Amino acid sequence: MRKFSCLVSLLLSGYAWTAGQSKPNVIVVLADDLGFGDVSAYGSKTIHTPNIDRLARGGVCFNNAYATSATSTPSRYALMTGMYPWKNPDAKILPGDAPLLIREDEFTLPKMMREAGYATGAIGKWHLGMGKGNINWNETVKPGANEIGFDYSCLIAATNDRVPTVYIENGDVVGLDKSDPIYVNYEENFPGEPTAIDNPEMLRMKWHHGHNNSIVNGIPRIGFMKGGHSARWRDEDMADYFVGKMKDYITAHADTSFFLYYGLHEPHVPRAPHERFAGATTMGPRGDAIVEADWCVGQLLGHLEKEGILDNTMIIFSSDNGPVLQDGYFDDAVEKVGEHSPTGGRRGGKYSLFDGGTHIPLFVYWKGHIAPLNSDEFVCQMDLLPSLASMVGGKVPEGLDGIENLDAFTGKGASKREDLVIEAKSKVALRTAGPWVMIPPHKGKARNVTGNELGNLKEYALFNLVEDPAQLHNVAADHPELLEKLKLRLSALTDGKIVNQ
Ligand code: CA
Repeated sequence: MRKFSCLVSLLLSGYAWTAGQSKPNVIVVLADDLGFGDVSAYGSKTIHTPNIDRLARGGVCFNNAYATSATSTPSRYALMTGMYPWKNPDAKILPGDAPLLIREDEFTLPKMMREAGYATGAIGKWHLGMGKGNINWNETVKPGANEIGFDYSCLIAATNDRVPTVYIENGDVVGLDKSDPIYVNYEENFPGEPTAIDNPEMLRMKWHHGHNNSIVNGIPRIGFMKGGHSARWRDEDMADYFVGKMKDYITAHADTSFFLYYGLHEPHVPRAPHERFAGATTMGPRGDAIVEADWCVGQLLGHLEKEGILDNTMIIFSSDNGPVLQDGYFDDAVEKVGEHSPTGGRRGGKYSLFDGGTHIPLFVYWKGHIAPLNSDEFVCQMDLLPSLASMVGGKVPEGLDGIENLDAFTGKGASKREDLVIEAKSKVALRTAGPWVMIPPHKGKARNVTGNELGNLKEYALFNLVEDPAQLHNVAADHPELLEKLKLRLSALTDGKIVNQ
């Protein structure tokens, strides 16, 4: 492990700021379905992400970092609240018209930062619900991000494959013409509105399953939508749109301390990067979308430099869950993947209890304050809330599942996290800080409709992730005492309620 300079040690020893000195800005960049192997900093030779790699090589590059969950909504819920998502029965993949998942009186990361004196902004992908149900999209939609701690928000409500396909700024649909009101329904279509099933001639992207409702920008979506034509996004412009909002936010807050949550939509489906990225890789739209995401990070770094605040800004880069190739559209992701391994050789991916579901890229970068380090420490995104609180002098309530782990995140010391309950589609497994992961037997199919492995096994499985990162050898029979110990631990953590489902 490389040693810090005395200066860096001093800077990080107390995390104290003198009067008049501004607290560092904190930016969380969260990609969507980006795998451990999709970032060239981890050694991939098949894709090049030079801007993301700049964070990895100039900061702490984590080899053993985890999301709590293998899907978006629960993973983001844990990041925002510091709580295990499987404790909240509603923390499942949400439709685009779902009510706000986080209660207004619930403790959150942006609330903590705001109470510590920060301006707080959320830009990009949301997928934590908004409103109270039966949303009228033609009025200000609330409660939403602004009611759970963000002073400013400019978001897509759910995912880029779900309606409504509009940007929502501080609760208002951007660019809405009131004479063409917008309506959303996830149960039934609006009479006369085209759908992917009835109007295949309108499609320029073919659906595989599920994505066969309303058509926007020639792409079929999940859910039905009517009206709001002037507000509808063009997928190819989404990265540019949010980069513009990101730059505006940073410029507006360059003279104060701010916390920015920047949710990249790439490389989630539908993969429709801007035309200038077409052919940037040999892997088709998924690879090109990752290059687009890397470009966004380059724009972020460049803008912080332009504003002269890069060395007063901590940037945390990660992904909400593991990668997936076929996820509902025919977009050549499977056909053109070639030698590329999105999980970096790990088994499973998005939706899976196998390691590829939750083992994600994570880099913590702070120019001049955090020394470059390649870290094997075991860390989880859920711990960022209490850890950042420790850094900025924020307060956290008792009883969080996340733990204060700032020294590990800044590369200054060993991780305090001993184990982690990981979740996929409401099923759980136990990952230890050591080499082990224990997956209980779970009912259900081994693979989903597109062939992605879910990690539903018939018997208890124990894998040594150091010796067997691809999880090919269940060694439970060789370690009966360890297996029993991990069973008891998982049962204690979950009250035995959601094991053996
Ligand atoms: Ca995701």
